[in-house]
Amino acid sequence: MNLGTAQEALKKYFGYSSFRPMQAEIIEQVYAHKDALVLMPTGGGKSICYQIPAITMPGTALVVSPLISLMKDQVEALRGVGIPAAFLNSSLSDLEQRQVEDDFFNKKIKLLYVSPEKVVSQQFFPLLQKAQPSLFAIDEAHCISSWGHDFRPEYTQLKFIKKNFPTTPIIALTATADKLTRKDITQQLHLNEPEVFIASFDRPNLSLEVRPGQRRREQIIRFIQKRPNQAGIIYCLSRKSTEELADKLQAAGVDAAYYHAGMDAAERSLVQEAFINDNQLVVCATIAFGMGIDKSNVRWVIHYNLPKNIESYYQEIGRAGRDGAKADTLLFYSYNDVTILRDILTQNESSKADLKLAKLDRMQQYAEAVGCRRRILLSYFSEDIQEDCGNCDICKNPPKSIDGTVIAQKALSAIYRLRGTVGMSMLIDILRGSGKREIFERGYQNIKTYGAGRDIPFLEWQHYMLQLLNMGYIEIAHDQHGVLKLTTASNRVLFEQEKVPLVRFATLKERRDAEKERAKKATRPQRSRNELFEHLRQLRKQLAQQRGVPPYIIFNDATLEEMAAMKPVSDEEMINISGVGERKLHLYGSTFINAIEEYLGK
Ligand code: ADP
Ligand code: ZN
Repeated sequence: MNLGTAQEALKKYFGYSSFRPMQAEIIEQVYAHKDALVLMPTGGGKSICYQIPAITMPGTALVVSPLISLMKDQVEALRGVGIPAAFLNSSLSDLEQRQVEDDFFNKKIKLLYVSPEKVVSQQFFPLLQKAQPSLFAIDEAHCISSWGHDFRPEYTQLKFIKKNFPTTPIIALTATADKLTRKDITQQLHLNEPEVFIASFDRPNLSLEVRPGQRRREQIIRFIQKRPNQAGIIYCLSRKSTEELADKLQAAGVDAAYYHAGMDAAERSLVQEAFINDNQLVVCATIAFGMGIDKSNVRWVIHYNLPKNIESYYQEIGRAGRDGAKADTLLFYSYNDVTILRDILTQNESSKADLKLAKLDRMQQYAEAVGCRRRILLSYFSEDIQEDCGNCDICKNPPKSIDGTVIAQKALSAIYRLRGTVGMSMLIDILRGSGKREIFERGYQNIKTYGAGRDIPFLEWQHYMLQLLNMGYIEIAHDQHGVLKLTTASNRVLFEQEKVPLVRFATLKERRDAEKERAKKATRPQRSRNELFEHLRQLRKQLAQQRGVPPYIIFNDATLEEMAAMKPVSDEEMINISGVGERKLHLYGSTFINAIEEYLGK
């Protein structure tokens, strides 16, 4: 086996003409019968790293995978490109299991996906010894680490593999990159001097945007209306809020469903299936949704609330655009969410609370950032990019700076006069000269700065306060119900005339106008999403329905986009489209060529 064989298989089966960074090196490592540890982001292309060796090496590769629904998806996708594959887990009947085991024994399949329970079971071992797999792939390998999330006890028994199959290569794959997990995986699987491959975690096709969390529903409706026929997920903090939001969206004419762990299994799988098959495009969900599915054409992800750390956020937005085509992400940020999350983290999970709060701080800093967001994200994962990304809200619409010295002086002197006894909302109310009863009861109307900032609306004040916090001019005493305190830096503003630059506040209307302006500038509609694309998308859906598979198994969005742009009308042209391999050309080529010809009016 050499790279040439691998390259041929990549084109023949998957229809891709080149490997992504690291895939080739990883495959060569497996060919050399050496162990590998692969760290790639979601959507980075991990599967190819073991699927190509599995296809090209003699015998059957064994893939350990923790998610039953994912196994089914993967096997369907492999069969769809003409590769014999099967899975073994508790969802099969005894008879079905026996059939698969026979096929495995007789080397009739190239890949066998198994659940961790199955692979460590006593009954399975003799078969494994007889069949002698060509390689072992351990997917979602972070499940071995009790440190992180998704810990699966059976994974810790996987060390039996190296002991019993010392010369068979093991390839462990995960999207969790931290050092501790990495060490755990290597040690617990007894990997033999594995080469560690760390791909970039950048996902340049995902746009990043953060908006203040005001009138979220209205904004979401507009966001969805601008993206007809596109599938997306809205993540909410609580079960109840998923239901409420879905209701409200329905009322506004958006067909939205909800999904959370409190629903019974049948209801949940109904929603999931509909989503996978493009029959339900919008789902309001708690974070559990999306873990067990491989849907590559999720075109957008919205966070209704702030996630509790950057890892979760990145994993959740990572569920969009796995096909590599453009996808949008939007995070709503309100200070209130931070307060709620802080309470949750400190109340229920007192263990490692400090660490969790520190992670929340980083998340908050991301949401409040005034520089390129992708640089912040990637630096969190210890990756440096040299240039701004051009695909985040800050890059597209750089914030304008104003002289905020007077604003800062007003806020700080109010805190000074109140001796650090009130929280942010109350402080803003006082600055705005609010007539609330509580203010008068406490006599706050008598302090000198009462009403000194009534020319600035509440939300705008909040925007400035958060910046003052980030710049270290104010501190929040979380142990005293979140009251605001001065810092040593505040003295420089109050007594030494230090200048304070602030980012100007853009109203919702201004932001909308800017958006319209940008849309106008992009005069031609996106070429990739034209009428022909829509045509081909419908065709894909019909074919998927006939064959009982999800549409993205037929062709993914990136492939359809390329077809819509290149308009192939012969087999030769069609096979040049990325994602069209021999089998798919044979199965669907003429159907799509006919549709394109018809569209071109031939
Ligand atoms: P992961 O398991 O890392 O989340 P996948 O293996 O599902 O990612 O791959 C994500 C997408 O990228 C899939 O649609 C896959 O077909 C595609 N892909 C993988 N490798 C290549 C490649 N070399 N060229 C083009 N597309 C690729
Ligand atoms: Zn950027």
